[in-house]
Amino acid sequence: MNFTMTDDQRALVDAIESLCQDFPIDYWREQDEKAEFPHAFHRAVAAAGFLGIAMPEAQGGAGLGITEAALMMRTISASGAGMSGASAIHMNIFGLNPVVVFGTEAQKARFLPPLIEGREKACFAVTEPDAGLDTTHLKTQAVRRPGGGYVLSGRKIWISTAQVADRMLILTRSMPLEEVGKPTQGLTLFYTALDRSKVEVREIHKLGRAAVDSNMLFIDGLEVPEEDRIGEDGRGFEYILHGMNPERILIAAEAVGLGRAALRIAAQYAGERVVFGRPIGQNQGVAHPLARAWMNLEAADLMVMKAATLYDAGQPCGAEANTAKYLAAEAAHDACQNAILTLGGMGYAKEYHVERLLRECYIPRIAPVSPQMILNFVAERVLGLPKSY
Ligand SMILES: Cc1cc2nc3c(=O)[nH]c(=O)nc-3n(C[C@H](O)[C@H](O)[C@H](O)COP(=O)(O)OP(=O)(O)OC[C@H]3O[C@@H](n4cnc5c(N)ncnc54)[C@H](O)[C@@H]3O)c2cc1C
Repeated sequence: MNFTMTDDQRALVDAIESLCQDFPIDYWREQDEKAEFPHAFHRAVAAAGFLGIAMPEAQGGAGLGITEAALMMRTISASGAGMSGASAIHMNIFGLNPVVVFGTEAQKARFLPPLIEGREKACFAVTEPDAGLDTTHLKTQAVRRPGGGYVLSGRKIWISTAQVADRMLILTRSMPLEEVGKPTQGLTLFYTALDRSKVEVREIHKLGRAAVDSNMLFIDGLEVPEEDRIGEDGRGFEYILHGMNPERILIAAEAVGLGRAALRIAAQYAGERVVFGRPIGQNQGVAHPLARAWMNLEAADLMVMKAATLYDAGQPCGAEANTAKYLAAEAAHDACQNAILTLGGMGYAKEYHVERLLRECYIPRIAPVSPQMILNFVAERVLGLPKSY
């Protein structure tokens, strides 16, 4: 494993940092306050050619690895954009991995270029109100039409960017649970148009990241052509699993960036704010939690890079990707909490941004998988303990 960036990776990070300078931290505060999608930022990332960073070159992407994508997302988040910036483009970066890996050449040619060029936005519709983390128990149905294609009906919850998305990658059940050998069978994946005449998109008002919407979807008779099915009927769960590790690595990198942003603000404030005749950062009670937050973030970042390196080398990385997601999200939370306490009353003021970062850091903690489920995974798969649920 390499602990230093290559020249190309350094150049990538420099280019992203320079792009982010056009979107200073106040931009993100305003987007949050207005609850407005950061279209200008999305356009800028697309124009600079970064939306396709991990997409195949044949479709106009840069064909780079998850390591480069993670460096990019960490840099964006660390600029002060936090999850507001990262989530605005997250789906573009690796969300369509199942299409890249399991789609036909015709599907890749049809679906990937509009996403890479920023002409289309996509959302990812897996979570359901009655299934939660128990994905195989999802109930959105895909019923085959006699003349070909499918009709979809059901409900999804928490679907991010559905207010602005043109298409959705959606996991459905096409064979009843009772009729399949294993619950993971009988699920089918589609990448299809988000036809708002058949899908009601209702926004959920939430704690943070107001700039990037999350929604309930009420799907009623959405017709989906055969050409929009990804891979084989009934094997959707396998395809989704394939993209889970990279998704966790990216979220972890975003969390590290967010924690760094909070820590930077806190350290600067602690050096400048004078109370009792000295900078507050001269008190170890203020300095030590920040030093610990830095160490936790760096340790988490190493695990992010280890997981990314393994993934790019084609090696198993489930334990590392899950661990990176867990450690990074917890470290980001710790950094945000201590940043707020360092700033005292000003930690509570929007002007200083750390309150927004704290609200946003719950997202990598909760999604796409909870800390408890990661602990379950490590206990069972790494330590060989009996399954608890
Ligand atoms: C801001 C935001 C954006 C999101 N964006 C998307 C998106 O774009 N697309 C999408 O599909 N989903 C999205 N999600 C959904 C997210 O992935 C889920 O919220 C997450 O997977 C948890 O599912 P749940 O909320 O149904 O929790 P539940 O499954 O109801 O679980 C609730 C709690 O119980 C715990 N729990 C449950 N079972 C066990 C067990 N066996 N052992 C220990 N603990 C257990 C969980 O760990 C969790 O803490 C988003 C969520 C948020 C908050």
